[in-house]
This record gives sequence, C-alpha cells and structure tokens, in this order.
Amino acid sequence: MTFQCYLCQTILTSRKQLLSHERTKHKNNKTIPHLHLLIQPSFEQLISYQDAFIILIKKRLGFSRHSIGQKRLLINVFPENIFIHLFQSEPSFRYNSALRKYRCIFKGEEGEKRLKQILNYECWSSRQDPETKTTGYVLLANYEENYEISFIWVQTELIENNRTFQCGTVTCTFITDSGEFINENQSQKYIIKDKITNNSNQSQHRFILPRSPLQQLTLNQDV
Ligand SMILES: [Zn+2]
Repeated sequence: MTFQCYLCQTILTSRKQLLSHERTKHKNNKTIPHLHLLIQPSFEQLISYQDAFIILIKKRLGFSRHSIGQKRLLINVFPENIFIHLFQSEPSFRYNSALRKYRCIFKGEEGEKRLKQILNYECWSSRQDPETKTTGYVLLANYEENYEISFIWVQTELIENNRTFQCGTVTCTFITDSGEFINENQSQKYIIKDKITNNSNQSQHRFILPRSPLQQLTLNQDV
C-alpha cells in the first residue's frame, strides 16, 4: 500500500512516513489541493457560523474567579468551506493535508482586531455585568505578554449502519479573565481585581475593547 502526498505528489510507503514528510516538507502549507471542489458558502450560512462563534465564546465568559483560565469550545458539525472562507487569508492559516486539518491562530491586540472583522462583530471578546461593573473577556494582551486564540478544524468520520459520515469539528481555545471597569472620558479603563490591592500603578489594565464601530464589515465577500 502506498500513500501519496497531495501537496507535491510524492509517493511514500507508510502513513507514518507521509505524516513526517508533510511535517518537514510542508510545515507552513496554505495550499488546499481540493479547494476547487468546495462550494462558496452563502451569506446566510456565514452569518450563522459567525454568530455561533460569538455566542459560544461569550458563553465561556464569566465574572467570578471560576470563569478565569483556559477555555475550549467545540462545534461538532462545522462545514469545511465556511472555515476556509473565514480564515484562509490570514497569515497564520495552515493546512495539513494528511491529517485533514486546518488551523488559524490570532494573537494580541492585532488578533483581537482582526477577529472583529472576521466575526463581523465589535464586542465578540467581552461580556459585561452592569450590576457589579465587571467584565469577562478573552485575554489577548496584558502588560506582560500577548496571548492566543486558536481555531482548529479537523475532519472526523463516523460509521453508522455501514455508512460513513464525514464531518468537520472545530475546536477553539483561548484564555479568559475578568476585571472591574470604570468609565473615564468616554474611554473605558479596566482594572484587574487581583492587582488592586498589590500595586495601584499596575492596576490599570489596558483592556482590549470596543473602540470605534467597524466601518468595513465585509470579508472578501463577493456578495
Ligand atoms: Zn509533499
């Protein structure tokens, strides 16, 4: 049995070899050999999956200590063409053909901004509790460093009654945090709860947040 690399047509003798070939020779691959077989998603489809991301991310945001830390969300049936349409033009987009796996990573404030355009929503990364003036948010940058949010699509196969059902699963991983906020000259400044008692100079967290409304909401859509 032979295994072919769909990216360069090299023939390999085992799946293990194919995987290691792809890892070394096509580490940063963006080419999708079967792209022409995929149909362009409709505008309505795109919106519903953008909304799915927004809603599921926001559901992971909370205001207590327990809602802080690494979070993961799964969408079990996610069309491949939608994932490609949303993320293909990003610098961090990668495709592993042997594993049938795509990934795209966003980092820091830049990543947060870019996701506003991709998800077509200004406040995708935060949720506020007006009562306690606390905000739960996806942590992408603080004074110390930048953090990531990753989107991974992988094809899975389910076999039922001798029928094979192929579907794509998306996993989104990120870190959440929460903090208090105060309004100051229309710009919101955020204060990390934990740091208030320790050092007041460092307590003003530069929160990544809704600034001006998005002017351009399109995403390379020919609609
Ligand atoms: Zn190859």
